[in-house]
Amino acid sequence: MLKDEDRIFTNLYGMHERTLAGAQARGHWDGTAAIIKKGRDWIVDEMKASGLRGRGGAGFPTGLKWSFMPKETDGRPSYLVVNADESEPGTCKDREIMRHDPHTLVEGCLIASFAMNAHACYIYIRGEYIREREALQAAIDEAYAAGLVGKNAAKSGWDFDIYLTHGAGAYICGEETALLESLEGKKGMPRMKPPFPAGAGLYGCPTTVNNVESIAVVPTILRRGGGWFSGIGRANNAGTKLFAISGHVNNPCVVEEEMGISFEELIEKHCGGIKGGWDNLKAVIPGGSSVPNVRGENMRDAIMDFDGLKEKGSSLGTAAVIVMDQSTDMIKAIWRLSKFYKHESCGQCTPCREGTGWMMRVMERLVKGDASVEEIDMLFDVTKQVEGHTICALGDAAAWPIQALIRNFRDDIEDRIKHKRIAGIAAE
Ligand code: SF4
Repeated sequence: MLKDEDRIFTNLYGMHERTLAGAQARGHWDGTAAIIKKGRDWIVDEMKASGLRGRGGAGFPTGLKWSFMPKETDGRPSYLVVNADESEPGTCKDREIMRHDPHTLVEGCLIASFAMNAHACYIYIRGEYIREREALQAAIDEAYAAGLVGKNAAKSGWDFDIYLTHGAGAYICGEETALLESLEGKKGMPRMKPPFPAGAGLYGCPTTVNNVESIAVVPTILRRGGGWFSGIGRANNAGTKLFAISGHVNNPCVVEEEMGISFEELIEKHCGGIKGGWDNLKAVIPGGSSVPNVRGENMRDAIMDFDGLKEKGSSLGTAAVIVMDQSTDMIKAIWRLSKFYKHESCGQCTPCREGTGWMMRVMERLVKGDASVEEIDMLFDVTKQVEGHTICALGDAAAWPIQALIRNFRDDIEDRIKHKRIAGIAAE
């Protein structure tokens, strides 16, 4: 379990001041100029040593990502873009950072931008996050007024501007290239890759897109050292992590914990246990709605990090843990996710545009048992035709929950079809 002195987010629950004065009292903005003066290479190397992997879902090593940015400018500016479009069902961790501890993010933006030779950073925040935008903008304004950002930011010699852009509520704008399109004022439609953003991103310039949590942890890592961060958790799965636990637990919460904590400890220590006890646990979606669900009996000993959840046939994703007890209609729950992905498809590529609607309609019939057993395999086949055949990962996100439903709860689906048939015959 994470020790109190190792917590990065010390105001996650808004019990203290989120103002600049409050943030400084908790140790933020301390020695920022000194960190910057250590130079770009030192920062990137320290981030690599920390073992931090991106906290937005993909888990790509953050320091390595930064090192892809050009060291010398070819005349084009470089940009840092922060993805604050947190829209995946179940995921609500960045929200807590932005509304209660926004200065961790603002300070992180300055240091990360410097490390990537960027004089400007854009934060793209989810359309529905209105209070969070207000809190973050207030923090940015305070930082400008105090000289921590702007010309000669924090007396570091680095000129730095930070802009907050409010999205309009489309899930797909959380996909990094759709986000860039939206920032440019166009429809939020994902771009084909390559080129990758580090080569041609925002306005065709070198860009790195990072998640809020990934950037907000940077100042503390650099103050305490990459070795401190990498010493928490397991090899290749280092550091602290915000877990957002929702669903059928006694106390749903967002909590900062050590990577590699067991699922059981996470739920018992922070959520007051499963509603109705462990025998009442039916399934868990451990990393946000797009990752495969895991049957309850397989989850209890799960290690909550990238490798641990891979071993369980799922993924850490955003560490948004959705807990479902025996009262859950799994077929209906996954149908609801299918409906979400169908609604949020941008429609640009055929397997996703057509496939998400097709899968949702079959799921709709499976909820009622209004299908034949053969259709289960057909549905599985269609998910395989969508997975990996689309421009962005939304196609995979729509396919994986259904695949896992069929793998883990095929009996439930078949039972419902058989019951419906028997009920139909009895009524004749
Ligand atoms: Fe759009 Fe779906 Fe294709 Fe992504 S996979 S680009 S959301 S149609």
